[in-house]
This record gives sequence, structure tokens and C-alpha cells, in this order.
Amino acid sequence: MEELFGNRIPPACRYCEHAYPAETEDLRICTKKGLVKEDFSCRAFRYDPLMRVPRRPLEVTHLESEEFSLFIDL
Ligand code: SF4
Repeated sequence: MEELFGNRIPPACRYCEHAYPAETEDLRICTKKGLVKEDFSCRAFRYDPLMRVPRRPLEVTHLESEEFSLFIDL
């Protein structure tokens, strides 16, 4: 599964398959360790890509339509 987003996934409970969301945003409920912080990790970490929340894309503003066209001089 690590291949989906590269092999350098830093272990964190926020996207471990043993964790479930807790009521508090920065905590997870782990089936092995109990209540843990989302940036905590242990040796039992198993990456779950479905738990990963992608970063929001940058907002693009003030671009004109000419910036999206290609001009080729023949
Ligand atoms: S404590 Fe370990 S097993 Fe539990 S969610 Fe975090 S990394 Fe996964």
C-alpha cells in the first residue's frame, strides 16, 4: 500500500489502519494502544491510504484566459 503515495510515508496514527477518529480532532482511538495523538506512532503502524486527507490545492486567482493558451510561431 505504501506505493500509492511513495515509500517515504512518515508513520503517524492519523493514517494507520488500526486507528479510528476520536471526538477530539487531534486524537485517534487505536485498537492496540487506546487513545493516542494523531502524530504519535508505534512499531505496529500499518499505512491506510484511505485515512489520508489530501492537502487542499492552492487557490489560483487573477489569471487571464491568455495564460492558458499556447502560441506557436510558424
Ligand atoms: S499507536 Fe501504533 S498501531 Fe496504534 S494507531 Fe498509532 S501507529 Fe497505529
